[in-house]
Amino acid sequence: MKVLLAEDSKTNQILIRAYIEEAGHEIVIVKDGQEAVERFQYERPDLVLMDIIMPIKDGIEAAHEIRVLCEQEGDWVPIIFLSAMTESKDIVRAIDAGGDDYLTKPVEAVVLNAKLRAMQRIANMRQQLKQANRELLRMTVRDGLTGIANRRHFDEVIAKEVKRASRTGGSVSLVMCDIDYFKPYNDNYGHQSGDDCLKYVARTMAKVSKRPGDLVARYGGEEFAIILPETDVGGAHAIAENVRSAIDELNLSHNYSDVADHVTISSGVATISPHKGDDVAETVKRLIKQADKGLYQSKDQGRNQVVVSA
Ligand code: GH3
Ligand code: MG
Ligand code: MG
Ligand code: MG
Repeated sequence: MKVLLAEDSKTNQILIRAYIEEAGHEIVIVKDGQEAVERFQYERPDLVLMDIIMPIKDGIEAAHEIRVLCEQEGDWVPIIFLSAMTESKDIVRAIDAGGDDYLTKPVEAVVLNAKLRAMQRIANMRQQLKQANRELLRMTVRDGLTGIANRRHFDEVIAKEVKRASRTGGSVSLVMCDIDYFKPYNDNYGHQSGDDCLKYVARTMAKVSKRPGDLVARYGGEEFAIILPETDVGGAHAIAENVRSAIDELNLSHNYSDVADHVTISSGVATISPHKGDDVAETVKRLIKQADKGLYQSKDQGRNQVVVSA
């Protein structure tokens, strides 16, 4: 652990440094509350040991400022106050200011070590919690099977992009893709192989359209959607064609398709340039409907192709 010690007494500094280093931790020492707040920001310690009575800024005020800084970043760091026996009323104020525990001076090595272990335990638990939260957040935007964006995320992003385009006067393109003869694929090769096929297709789509703002999402079942911000109809057509040919070239065997001897997709492309004040939900609906129209047309015309819907 990296420990930040704020303590104005030289004697205590020396004593605590020896304890901390002996326990195998790293220590950074400052001699007043002001310095504690400043150093905290770039040292990012795992624990703060804070004396209460110090010059310039006392420990209570410094702890409060550190707490505020942490909260702004959604972070937390344990703060342990160091206080002389005579300062017992200060302990209440110290805990109220955001302290987590206190040690009475003179500090004993065994007690300090026990508290370090306790704080380490809490810090570890918080780390695990943060990790779990990150994973949960990831799950809310990812499709469980393919790992690409899910429908929910698609809905959010398309609305955001339409809003942005209507503000800036730009455009948004949408490509709707559907795997050809996927029902017979499933029926003949089984659902497990069907799932694998969806993963390959998703991965290939994500690889081909890799411009930063682009979003490849699983729209549902064997349908995929690609959101292309700031892309005109020509650009969107080119990307849709690249995706189609990349899937074609994957050459995933499909003996029950009427188009080819391998897996293919059909796509519809639509582009809009919304105006300021346009209803976002309405515009999104219109864009999806238009791309869908292109998709149906490409199915009608023989599949394994891209149709731009005007
Ligand atoms: P078309 O060429 O006209 O698109 O025909 P199709 O057979 O692909 O279309 P249809 O909509 O009839 O079939 C879609 C199939 O996709 C039905 C379903 O079994 C399969 N499917 C949808 N979601 C999943 C999934 O998560 N896993 C698997 N394995 N199959 C899925
Ligand atoms: Mg002091
Ligand atoms: Mg379909
Ligand atoms: Mg299909």
